[in-house]
Amino acid sequence: MDRVLTGARPGLEATDAVAVAGELFGVEAQTAHDLGSERDRTFALHDADGRPTAIIKVSNAHEDPDVLDMEAAAALHVATVDPELGVALPWRTRASGGAGPAQPGDDPTRLRASWASEEPHWVRLYSVLAGHSHVDTRTLSDEALIAWGATMARLGRALRGFAHPKAHRVMLWDIQHALRCRSMLDDIRDPHARRLVARALDDFEQHVSPIWPLLRAQVLHTDITPDNVLVDDDGFISGIIDFGDMSHTALVADIGSALCALVPGRPAEERFRLARLVLDGYEREVPLEDQDRQVAALAWAARSAVTVAISSWRVAQGLEDAAFAERANDECVRDLELFQELGVDVANRRVGGLTDSIFADPSLRARRDAAFGPAIDPLFYDEPIEVAFASDVWITTADGRRYLDGYNNVPCVGHGHPRVTAAIARQARTINTHTRYLHPAAIELSERLAASCPPGLDTVLLVNSGSEANDWAWRLAVAATGNRGGLCTANAYHGITEAIAALSPEAWLDGVKPAHVETFGVRDTYRGQDLDGAALRGAIERLAGNGLAPAATILDGLVMSDGVADLDPAYVQELVRLTREAGGLWIADEVQSGHGRTGAVMWAFERFGIVPDFVTLGKPMGNGHPVAAVITRREIVATIADETTLFSTFGGNPVSAVAALAVLDVLEDERVLQRVQETGRLLGGELAAVAARHPEIGDVRGVGLAWAVEFVSDPETREPDAQRAHHAREAMKHAGVLVGTTGPHGNILKVRPPLALRPEHVPMLAGALDAALS
Ligand code: PMP
Repeated sequence: MDRVLTGARPGLEATDAVAVAGELFGVEAQTAHDLGSERDRTFALHDADGRPTAIIKVSNAHEDPDVLDMEAAAALHVATVDPELGVALPWRTRASGGAGPAQPGDDPTRLRASWASEEPHWVRLYSVLAGHSHVDTRTLSDEALIAWGATMARLGRALRGFAHPKAHRVMLWDIQHALRCRSMLDDIRDPHARRLVARALDDFEQHVSPIWPLLRAQVLHTDITPDNVLVDDDGFISGIIDFGDMSHTALVADIGSALCALVPGRPAEERFRLARLVLDGYEREVPLEDQDRQVAALAWAARSAVTVAISSWRVAQGLEDAAFAERANDECVRDLELFQELGVDVANRRVGGLTDSIFADPSLRARRDAAFGPAIDPLFYDEPIEVAFASDVWITTADGRRYLDGYNNVPCVGHGHPRVTAAIARQARTINTHTRYLHPAAIELSERLAASCPPGLDTVLLVNSGSEANDWAWRLAVAATGNRGGLCTANAYHGITEAIAALSPEAWLDGVKPAHVETFGVRDTYRGQDLDGAALRGAIERLAGNGLAPAATILDGLVMSDGVADLDPAYVQELVRLTREAGGLWIADEVQSGHGRTGAVMWAFERFGIVPDFVTLGKPMGNGHPVAAVITRREIVATIADETTLFSTFGGNPVSAVAALAVLDVLEDERVLQRVQETGRLLGGELAAVAARHPEIGDVRGVGLAWAVEFVSDPETREPDAQRAHHAREAMKHAGVLVGTTGPHGNILKVRPPLALRPEHVPMLAGALDAALS
């Protein structure tokens, strides 16, 4: 037990305080006024006119002088690195030759003097800081609470570089030692309060103790409460006056004690709202890690439990008045009741402002139906999965299952890539605005995208989705050519806007074709169909028959929704030639096939040896953050420059732009294109090996990390078999691998993992397919 807890307070009268101040610090005072303190004695000194001159603090006889020196050193450190925090500095003693507040570099031992009555006590003197003390926290406004959080974070930041051996002493109020308070449980007289405290300590042991060594820790004040700060007229902290509880501990210890002190006396739901505001304020200065937020409520509960336990124990020792202590504890008990009514998970989410649960929510499916309505795309899988978090190529569901992601192309450099997430968070904290203000991110991104394309493709328009990118490309193609006809593949998908839905037969209602669009079958080497440009020539002729010429042909370089193909360059060159001959432009839709998906090259059109008029980008561009682009030629954009301007509020905003830049950086730094090529070759080989064992697989085709496994009911007739593809997809899911299905008949297994997939993952992926069919 810390002896300071048991030591009696110094027996000092006001007159003694006046005398001691004069004798030890050379401060002339007329009167002293007791400010009250749990362990020590603190007096405000006043001059003959009643004006405050200084504060004198006489420590408990058991106080360790090295701890006092640590407090002085910490205050000096903070005053040096963040003077505006307004920390109270101890004065130099008379014996050390000077009067007045300490200066940086002062020896802390010269900032205290010894006063002896029955036992010697250490005495320190402080200047009077401006502000009110002992503020009633119930009067603090939302703004003030946010500012308290921010000040606490600033103080913590100012202490980052501070170290002292005494910071590792056992400070019982520091919740890292909460479980020691179990020995005090018997001193809690009210059985209800005793049960709540015991339960809070159990929760702490179960949920916090195991991760405590992983939480960010440093020397912290740990007691930013009304007892230790001064506030201005608006309730904002104007000074910090007592470092007596300093401890080397986790950041959440600071947060727990502040919440415990700041929200009492408020209605239940208000407490959580205000706690979130305090955390938000904290994060205005110092970002919290996820696990800090996840245990904030438990830290608060632990601090409440510790407060009840210590004060009950002090009452039992005769050191505190029982009625007073129990009244003060009522609010802590109320907090503990609230936490226990809600349960750990809900309380953590309420306090942390987190929306994700650590438990699966069985109501989500029905709520999704109700909220999104009947036209929304269906969920994947017969038994949909509730995703909780993902990293690299692994997705973990709310019920704790981990899947190898063989499907998602959006998180192209891997789920939650730290370079991208950090860039987004950093930029979101710095500034987020739009392209009508000068900011380098979108400009640098556009320069780099243009530089990744052949000369001539020099102009970049930033938008938010693949659909929008295609929409602008289409609009510009119509404007530049004066033509209105559109050409796309037979089962293409290019987006949701009215203009682009027209070019997306996959999504046509009942297959009804818009009059200005003609489709063409894609070269299918498995069935030996449409091997040359004849299908496109036919589509152009049909357009002409309707009195239309093409504004553009749009082609997804991997023809994903048509069943996935590694198209022959000569074939694509012929399509481009036919389009241009008919007066149309070429839109290379790289939403699926770009950003290295095909391996070795950044854009699929490079594989075909063509130079498109438009390159449209989307999905993988921000690794999950919505950002998209059109890359085109200046003269094309110039065709509409006299009539209108192009602007998208979110297009090219700094946060999206840095996300996209981070993706480009990672693609280079991790040599992703090369890795895709290697992993893709291996994957293709393994899938082909599986196919050789299972005749229901008619064809395996693809390139890079985009592969089709086509199921047929009969290898001779090559009749598409959607049911087998469906079954394989579901069985692979059971084996822990996520893939999808595609193609006009839904009989193609689509294997399109994040580009973070590496050779070591291939056996699991191919093995799951093999097992699914065996
Ligand atoms: N083009 C292609 C080839 C796509 O696959 C998609 C989306 N599946 C889009 C465009 C549309 O992109 P978004 O959903 O971002 O609007």
